[in-house]
Amino acid sequence: MKRVFFFGNGRAEGAGLGKERLGGKGSGLAEMTALGIPVPPGFTIEAAVSAEYSGGTSLDGLRSEVAQALAKVEEAAGRRFGDPANPLLVSVRSGARSSMPGMMDTILNLGLNSSTVKGLSSAAGERFALDCRRRFLQMYGDVVLNTGKEDFEEALTQMRKQKGVASDAELSAQDLSEIVARFEAIIRQHTGKNFPEDPQDQLWGAIGAVFRSWDNKRAKEYRRLHRIPNDWGTAVNVQAMVFGNRGETSATGVAFTRDPSTGEKKFYGEFLPNAQGEDVVAGIRTPRPLNADGSGRSLEETMPQAHAELLRVRDLLEKSFHDMQDLEFTIEDGKLYVLQTRNGKRTGFAAVRIASDMVDEGLISEEEAVLRVEPEQLVQLLAPVFPLKEKTAAVKEGRLLGKGLPAGPGAACGRIALTADKAVEMAAKRDPVVLVRAETSPEDIAGMNASAGILTTRGGMTSHAAVVARGMGKTCVVGAGEITVDAARGQIRAKSLEAKEGDWISIDGTTGEVLLGKLPTQPSEVLQVVIDGTLPLEKSSLARAFTRLLEWADARRRLGVRTNADTPGDARVARLFGAQGIGLCRTEHMFFEEHRILAVREMILAETAELRRAALEKILPMQREDFLGIFREMGNRPVTIRLLDPPLHEFLPNEEPALTRTAAELKVPVERVRDRVAQLHEANPMLGHRGCRLGITHPEIYETQVRAIFEAAAAAVREGLSPNPEVMIPLIGTKAELDKLRILVDETARRVTEETGQKISYKVGTMIEIPRAALQAKEIAQNADFFSFGTNDLTQMTFGYSRDDAASFLPAYIEKGILPEDPFASLDQAGVGELVTLATERGRQTNPKLKVGICGEHGGDPRSVEFFHRAGLDYVSCSPFRVPVARLAAARAALAGKEGSLSSTA
Ligand code: ADP
Ligand code: MG
Ligand code: MG
Repeated sequence: MKRVFFFGNGRAEGAGLGKERLGGKGSGLAEMTALGIPVPPGFTIEAAVSAEYSGGTSLDGLRSEVAQALAKVEEAAGRRFGDPANPLLVSVRSGARSSMPGMMDTILNLGLNSSTVKGLSSAAGERFALDCRRRFLQMYGDVVLNTGKEDFEEALTQMRKQKGVASDAELSAQDLSEIVARFEAIIRQHTGKNFPEDPQDQLWGAIGAVFRSWDNKRAKEYRRLHRIPNDWGTAVNVQAMVFGNRGETSATGVAFTRDPSTGEKKFYGEFLPNAQGEDVVAGIRTPRPLNADGSGRSLEETMPQAHAELLRVRDLLEKSFHDMQDLEFTIEDGKLYVLQTRNGKRTGFAAVRIASDMVDEGLISEEEAVLRVEPEQLVQLLAPVFPLKEKTAAVKEGRLLGKGLPAGPGAACGRIALTADKAVEMAAKRDPVVLVRAETSPEDIAGMNASAGILTTRGGMTSHAAVVARGMGKTCVVGAGEITVDAARGQIRAKSLEAKEGDWISIDGTTGEVLLGKLPTQPSEVLQVVIDGTLPLEKSSLARAFTRLLEWADARRRLGVRTNADTPGDARVARLFGAQGIGLCRTEHMFFEEHRILAVREMILAETAELRRAALEKILPMQREDFLGIFREMGNRPVTIRLLDPPLHEFLPNEEPALTRTAAELKVPVERVRDRVAQLHEANPMLGHRGCRLGITHPEIYETQVRAIFEAAAAAVREGLSPNPEVMIPLIGTKAELDKLRILVDETARRVTEETGQKISYKVGTMIEIPRAALQAKEIAQNADFFSFGTNDLTQMTFGYSRDDAASFLPAYIEKGILPEDPFASLDQAGVGELVTLATERGRQTNPKLKVGICGEHGGDPRSVEFFHRAGLDYVSCSPFRVPVARLAAARAALAGKEGSLSSTA
């Protein structure tokens, strides 16, 4: 079977094979070659080899195929590998199916040894040849021979000091030749051997190392965070070198076909003259812009021909990939080469805008637009921003520390952490953290993930920090050059200002401003349009794109989306976000309001049913008002109201001063309150006297709540509304519980109808959150109009984990791979999911009209939503701000069902 695929001179053996086999990089190189874009020739070893290699198979079986492909590269490049007179040099590059920026290894300038370096030197200049040689030694030492980077860096720093120069570019050929000798010595020291002279040995050493880099620590961590399967493996690309470091008419750079922060349709990018490979991404030198900006330093102004060629490539790429592309290019002596293209990482803002624009431009269909935006990305568009007024005031007060590039939009406020480890440590405590670094590297990934925002003082919009932050949806400012990070003293400084690690800082990822202290925030642009109505839709192209995208999603989803809302305010927000009803209204949240809790406590302390009724009489009108408010907000949409669920002790105070105060307020002896608290104490309250168990033992509580619901509904009808109440009984484990409580609900409804003369249509259903209820679904459904899976409790009880203290071992479980992730965040599809599927099927067997929904946290988690779609549920219910996420996730699930697989870009 063929496993090595040549590309070059307009011919690509791997064109059309796709990322699955060739990896993103290899597939992009093949496609670009076929499109006639100038790409240096090379070949790709497919990713499947990676798994075999890490399973212990040697690479020997590839030798003849690689030799053949290399011969084609030699022919296309017009140079021979290892030829002392005119050597072909190659890069050996990693490249997985899904891009993992900087996580794996690449080696440049391979093929140089003591004889080929002479050939290169006479062809292209001595200084240049030596610069390539030292870069090669450095990379090969680090990646293949495990020497680490430090000794090389140290030797370079020493040399710069000795020569009194600031950058490596100022070192002479003589200096570099000394450096090369030192580097060779470093390698001998570490390995006890000379550097491999034979280019073939170099090549195979590099191929093996690049395959192995799939399993390095940071790559694994990145895969875990981004849920990339470990068995994909990486492809290896071997490609003829082109040189951006051949003087001032050469350069290297990166570009985006559209702005990756805002999505605006403008070409965006950066370059460095006389530089190679990763110099731009590393963020060490501050790069220059591509487009003319009057500085005379841009690519457009300094190399207009290459710039024009780049614009042509941009069009070609978007037209054939139908997506925003992120490309790497190198200019050698004025000639442009494209070295990589991939679907560009983008912020949520850009994802939404680009998807909407591309539909208008006829590049993609509405369906594709829906598939282009990850549901989670929508959250960014809803996140708060800093109000202009407060920010201006802070600037006036002299708190502006500096300004950088706006790499990840949004507002972030947090305590300064100066290292990634510290960020992780601080984030585990209460306050949010902003990670502040000179530049970030792939090792910092866990710290970046733990931070609310990321600030760097060096690097451009395509530096590591910017790319990774965009992928994570984090607020990020990069290249804030006036700020100095002094890690040794635990400080950052700019102008006359300074701040210590642990101090508050505010970063605006939309404008690039960095301010000392904590700034308040205000609703985002989309919220101003959709919820507050303070900004007209026509004024916001972003809100327009957001709204359209969700309309396209609605037209394609089968699953309903409701919300969990306890107050009219929440209900309103959710409705404006598109909720089709309330899937969970928790009545107990209403009890906690200041003037009510006392009546509730009175009810709990009551010693006779009569006294209890008297206290409940006080609660009734309050609950009625709550429900009326919600019915007004939701009109004729269904409203599922759950009767009291938590154990009563949660409503009583437990600290001594609060006990005394409550006793005084209720005019009862403090001992009585204390006794009652002791009486209600439960060893395991979440499994205790709660939910329908309370309804059975204290029917008057449920009766009062049900009465409040129906009286409110009757009042709503009188107002001309047609409310749709659904009474939900929590924590059912047996059919008998439901039967008994259903009678209570029906009886109460009948009485209210008699009293008010209003007939209300309603449903009675139950939560399914106890495994026994799931198993007994067939029986229970006979007397239920609907089921709503309470997946939080269902997860807790299926696993036997307590939600309240699972945090003490879940992280270890995840780290050790015992669980793939937190089952409270994303549904355990295999176990808890099976109960969901089974209960749905069994319930519908006896009650084909049974409505089935879910109201746990999982209702707003995109992957869980996809599962609920497949399980055939009728709706999911989630918190108001997750409603847009669920709408999009439900549509993507429906489309995935249609096409068989989800395609994703970001
Ligand atoms: P990564 O996936 O980390 O970006 P790459 O394989 O893309 O790694 O390579 C790292 C850097 O080296 C990039 O800037 C790339 O453009 C450059 N590079 C790779 N191959 C070549 C080549 N054949 N000629 C010139 N530069 C190259
Ligand atoms: Mg790259
Ligand atoms: Mg529950």
